[in-house]
Amino acid sequence: MTMTLSYYQTSSEQQQAYRPVTLIGKDCMIKSQVSLAPLTSFRVGGPAEWYVAPKNLAEIQASFQWASSENLSVTMLGAGSNLLISDEGLPGLVINSKYLRHSQFDEETGLLTVGAGESIPRLAWQAARMGWQGLEWSVGIPGSVGGAVVMNAGAQGSCIADVLVSAHVLTMQGESLVLDKNDLSYSYRKSKIQGQPIIVTQATFQLQPGANPEQVMNTTTENFEKRRTSQPYHLPSCGSVFRNPGPKTAGWLIEESGLKGYQIGMAQVAHRHANFILNCGGAKANDIFRLIYHVQEQVEQRWSLLLEPEVKIMGQFPVS
Ligand code: FAD
Repeated sequence: MTMTLSYYQTSSEQQQAYRPVTLIGKDCMIKSQVSLAPLTSFRVGGPAEWYVAPKNLAEIQASFQWASSENLSVTMLGAGSNLLISDEGLPGLVINSKYLRHSQFDEETGLLTVGAGESIPRLAWQAARMGWQGLEWSVGIPGSVGGAVVMNAGAQGSCIADVLVSAHVLTMQGESLVLDKNDLSYSYRKSKIQGQPIIVTQATFQLQPGANPEQVMNTTTENFEKRRTSQPYHLPSCGSVFRNPGPKTAGWLIEESGLKGYQIGMAQVAHRHANFILNCGGAKANDIFRLIYHVQEQVEQRWSLLLEPEVKIMGQFPVS
């Protein structure tokens, strides 16, 4: 069912204007002009032209159908922890996976089946408390299951490709597919479905139950503490901005270029870890974008090597 309501009034004091919404399904609304900054870990970016947070497959399918009928592009949003969204916002429909939440730990097989909107660190802690091994490395990655599957998120020498068995996806044409790990052509922080109009709805991971919970909790806590002391978690960021080119890390190349602490507007190359850019309060997406460009330029001049962003840069940025 798709029904267009004439207008909808938001409760926010600041947003007193009437906003058009479209109702798909029983209580799933496609809203217009929804601010994306609070939905990203950088806390920057303008509004989504259209925005929806479906709760089930039927609502996702209806959202895709609506976007197709309106001739709109779609963008998937997970926890927003690897995104730089332009100050202008995003055209088309942004689909947030945050309500796609369920989890099932199968004691017999060690299979963990979870919805795309589940939080990776929450699962890592839950598995550790149960004495299940396999996710200890992921505790410092503040993403969703869907985002981690698409990004092949990784840390401490492990990554999603090491534990993924299969992922359920839905295409914009409404096709439901089960992809196994090999279908995703995984490599370092890459998968075949990055940037595709496909939504990951669920994933199954192979873990190892039956270990001593205290031991798994200790390893998980150690990993978390290591991250907290070596990386700046106190201010908004997207984690590592650039992919590590090897053999040197991006952080080392940036630090050796003398860029730690370098600032444009309120965006700063972190002192604690040079591959992090921090929003020191009120940064614009454009400040961060310009800083990324500056770092690339400086590193290229010094090392003849162009750093490739790991962060997904979305929307229009002014060409300077
Ligand atoms: P988003 O940022 O929302 O999206 C990332 C990409 O995935 C986008 O292209 C988006 O369109 C797509 N996407 C998201 N959900 C779906 C879905 N359901 N279906 C289809 N496409 C989807 N990353 C690491 O790999 N290792 C680290 O150690 C690490 N440390 C970090 C530390 C900090 C403090 C922060 C802020 C980030 C860190 N990251 C790290 C980056 C980030 O957490 C990961 O890339 C994470 O996997 C992104 O997941 P997300 O749900 O936030 O995805």
